[in-house]
Amino acid sequence: HEFEDYFLKRELLMGIYEKGFEKPSPIQEESIPIALTGRDILARAKNGTGKTAAFSIPVLEKIDPTKNEVQAMLLVPTRELALQTAQVCKELGKHLAVDIMVTTGGTSLKDDIMRLYQPVHVVVATPGRILDLASKGVCKLNNCRVLVMDEADKLLSPEFQPLIEQLISFLPDGRQIMLFSATFPVTVKQFKEKFLRKPYIINL
Ligand code: AMP
Repeated sequence: HEFEDYFLKRELLMGIYEKGFEKPSPIQEESIPIALTGRDILARAKNGTGKTAAFSIPVLEKIDPTKNEVQAMLLVPTRELALQTAQVCKELGKHLAVDIMVTTGGTSLKDDIMRLYQPVHVVVATPGRILDLASKGVCKLNNCRVLVMDEADKLLSPEFQPLIEQLISFLPDGRQIMLFSATFPVTVKQFKEKFLRKPYIINL
């Protein structure tokens, strides 16, 4: 397959090629067309397989930049991973008018609140801070139809798991969840049973 096969926006294709990606990696070949249909995805994927672009490309394609609302949330377990993931999205989306915000603990809450006065289409977050912002009504998630969970085994640790469930309660019905995990502990299996609807399984 080629990236052209997915009928992506021209501006997104430009970002992909400028990043030096010539052809989709195996996980991208599986995830991009399925994700574009709106189906839930459960992917077993290690780091280094191209999984960041596997979820970022369909997320960026789905954003309508003319609508000033949070349309996708990418949850990750650490601030470092949030920064890296947001960087990949910014590069791939360089020619799209998509606004990306990183929000994690360990930074000024006030700055995040100020940032939310400006347009945000995609939030890349660790669970605690975004839950705080959503609970305060500062970050509205009622139009956030896409949720990505990267390193889901870590996101479903006892510390984070209740926060994830609360966050999901802010999302609209019919939301799409894409879950990526290197391992499949019982916590991930239980989450799948509870929240994923007929997920497409990717096992690479
Ligand atoms: P990841 O698994 O998301 O951490 O990506 C691992 C590395 O592969 C990163 O350096 C990416 O920039 C690179 N990469 C991802 N997708 C592709 C692709 N389709 N072609 C070439 N390199 C890629």
